[in-house]
Amino acid sequence: MKKILITGAAGFLGSHLCDRFIKEGYKVFGMDNFITGDAKNIAHLSNNPDFEFIDHDVTKHIDFEGDLDYILHFASPASPIDYLKIPIQTLKVGSLGTHNLLGLAKAKDARILIASTSEIYGDPLVHPQTEDYYGNVNTIGPRGVYDEAKRFQESITMAYHTFHGVETRIVRIFNTYGPRMRLNDGRVIPAFMGQALRGEDLTVFGDGSQTRSFCYVDDQVEGIYRLLLSDYSHPVNIGNPHEISIRDFAEEIIKLTGTTQKVIYKDLPVNDPMQRQPDITLAKKILGWEPKVDRAEGMKITFDYFKSLTEDELYKSEHKDFTGFIK
Ligand code: NAD
Ligand code: UDP
Repeated sequence: MKKILITGAAGFLGSHLCDRFIKEGYKVFGMDNFITGDAKNIAHLSNNPDFEFIDHDVTKHIDFEGDLDYILHFASPASPIDYLKIPIQTLKVGSLGTHNLLGLAKAKDARILIASTSEIYGDPLVHPQTEDYYGNVNTIGPRGVYDEAKRFQESITMAYHTFHGVETRIVRIFNTYGPRMRLNDGRVIPAFMGQALRGEDLTVFGDGSQTRSFCYVDDQVEGIYRLLLSDYSHPVNIGNPHEISIRDFAEEIIKLTGTTQKVIYKDLPVNDPMQRQPDITLAKKILGWEPKVDRAEGMKITFDYFKSLTEDELYKSEHKDFTGFIK
C-alpha cells in the first residue's frame, strides 16, 4: 500500500484529496493544526483504517516514523481575509512549512507536490495567464504575505529539485470551489451563498467588472492527482478557463438561490486582481486533463451543501464586516 502525507487535511481541498487517495487505495496520513480548517471535514474518516490524523503545525519540525511515498503540501490559509488576519502564519507556512516538508521528502525519498496558486501572477498583465508569465505582485501590499510566500515556496521547491534531486511537482491552483468551503471564509462563493441564505444583500466589491474563473473541486482534485503521478516538475496551471465578471456572477447566484435580495456595491479591496483566467494548454497536453463540471452544475451541488448547514454555522460569520483590505 502506497503511503501519502497530506498537509492541510482538515481544510477544503486537503479533505477532498484525502478522500480521493483513500479511494485510490493509498494509506493516507492527514496533518493539520486547524488554524483555518475544520475537524468536521474529515470526521467521516475517523474510523477508516486507511486514514491517520496527525495534529501538527507544519512550521515546526516534523517527525514522521516509517516510510512515505508521496507528500501533498496543502497547508496554508487560502482566503484573502484569512491571510490578512494571520499574515505571519501565512508567510511561515509557505516558507518554513515548505522547507520542513521538502526536508522530509528528501529524507524519505518521497515525491512531493506543493499547492501554489494563481496569486503568484498577482494582478496579471498577461491574459489568460500562462505558466511562463512571471507575474505582477505588490510585495508589501495586503496580499503580499500570501503571494510572496507562495512564490518563495515555488523557488525553494525547484531548488530542492535541482540541488537535492527531490522529485517535486508544483500545481498553480486557480479559484476552486465546492462543498466543505468555510461559509465564513470571505471568499466570494461562500460569501454570496451565505448572504442569500441569511436573506442579506450580496456585496459586490468595486464595480464588479473584475473577473474570476471558477473550477469545481472534483476537477481540481483530478488535475492534482494526474500531476502528482506525471513526470513533470515545472509549474502547471489547474483551473477552469470559463471566466465571468463578479457582477454577472452575483446575478447568477441570485437566480440559483432564488433570493429576493439585491446586489450592493462596496469598496474594492487593495490589489484585488482585475482579471484571472487560466491558460490550461499545458495541463491538457501533459496530463490529458480538462475540467468536466460546468459552473451551473458545480454551483448547484455547492449551494445544496451550504443549505444543509445548521443555523449556528450559517450565522457564525466572524468575517462579515471585515474591512481590513479597504484603503
Ligand atoms: P483551507 O483554509 O480550507 O485549508 C487549509 C488548511 O491548512 C486548513 O485546514 C488549515 O488549518 C491548514 N493549515 C494552515 N496552516 C497550517 C500549519 N501551519 N500547519 C498545519 N496545518 C495548517 O484552504 P483551501 O482552499 O483548502 O486551500 C488549500 C491549499 O490550496 C492552500 O495551500 C492554498 O493556498 C491552495 N490554493 C487553494 C485555492 C482555492 O481556490 N481553494 C486556490 C489557490 C491555491
Ligand atoms: N468579492 C466580492 N464580494 C465578496 C467577496 C469577494 O465582490 O463578498 C470579490 C473579490 O473582491 C474578488 C472576487 O470576488 O474580486 C474573488 O474573491 P475571492 O476572495 O473569492 O478570491 P480571490 O480574490 O483570491 O480570487
